[in-house]
Amino acid sequence: MDFLITGGAGFIGSHLADQLLREGHRVFALDNLSTGSIANIAHLKSHPRFHYTIDTVSNEPVLAEMVDQCDVIFHLAAAVGVKLIVEAPVHTIETNVHGTEVVLKHANKKKKLVLIASTSEVYGKSTSVPFGEDDDLVLGSTKKHRWAYACSKAIDEFLALAYWKEKKLPVIIVRLFNTVGPRQTGQYGMVIPNFVRQALAGQPITVFGDGTQTRSFTYVGDVVCALAALVREPAAVGEVFNVGNTEEISIRALAERVKQMTGSHSPIVTIPYDEAYEAGFEDMPRRVPDIARIAALIGYEPKVQLDEILSRVIEYFRER
Ligand code: UDP
Repeated sequence: MDFLITGGAGFIGSHLADQLLREGHRVFALDNLSTGSIANIAHLKSHPRFHYTIDTVSNEPVLAEMVDQCDVIFHLAAAVGVKLIVEAPVHTIETNVHGTEVVLKHANKKKKLVLIASTSEVYGKSTSVPFGEDDDLVLGSTKKHRWAYACSKAIDEFLALAYWKEKKLPVIIVRLFNTVGPRQTGQYGMVIPNFVRQALAGQPITVFGDGTQTRSFTYVGDVVCALAALVREPAAVGEVFNVGNTEEISIRALAERVKQMTGSHSPIVTIPYDEAYEAGFEDMPRRVPDIARIAALIGYEPKVQLDEILSRVIEYFRER
């Protein structure tokens, strides 16, 4: 089949391209290289079934032609990373809402299946862990820019589900839970690449807040296999799926684990949220997915656990 990946030169997009090519498909990647990079797809450039276009999804003539060429669209292009969101809120809202709007509009012309990448961030400050897909979303004040990201992605979900309900455009929504692995950059705040880079450079490992907040990290290889399997499953259409790993770790314990696994002498320091992000910044204390729905539908089960994820990321940064 022919697949379009918006954000195809991004961290997740490039791994998805690898997976789809391994499965024998053709891949068309569209990326404006805002947070993605050519280095992520350098190894694919000469692949006969891989094609890429450097442009933005809001260039509608280009998008329309690529949508036309493909059977299925993975819409991954987005503004991501808490740091970027806090620093560039206008860009975040516009990119995430407008991008999805145009992708759905063009996909709808010939009713092409669209998988929309959403985020666990939409659960916001909810404390009813683990998070189930039908749970309430609990967002903070509109004065706190962090929530603009969750809100922009929630609007994407609403719009996609509205297209399904009203126009019978087949859509699938995935909420990704802290996807990590090689090629992820720490540039936009993500914790694992930051900790690993700091540990290897002998710099202080910066734990934000008191470090008791927890996350469940999911290996990118598990995520892209799940996405590729979902688009093959007719019963996935019109549904929302958590894609995550249920292994939970506090950020302080993560810092200690990274320090120990790299053999680093870096000190672990704590930095208040106000300093790390902005005054009044709100974090979520725990974030764990309920993965029963995707497990029941496609037999999803995360295969790579945290220690293995960390060793792969450490190896990636060492090689660089
Ligand atoms: N974090 C941290 N130090 C860093 C980067 C992030 O302590 O250098 C914390 C961050 O405050 C959050 C967690 O690690 O509690 C995960 O952050 P990330 O940006 O990776 O993803 P999020 O879950 O916030 O979307």
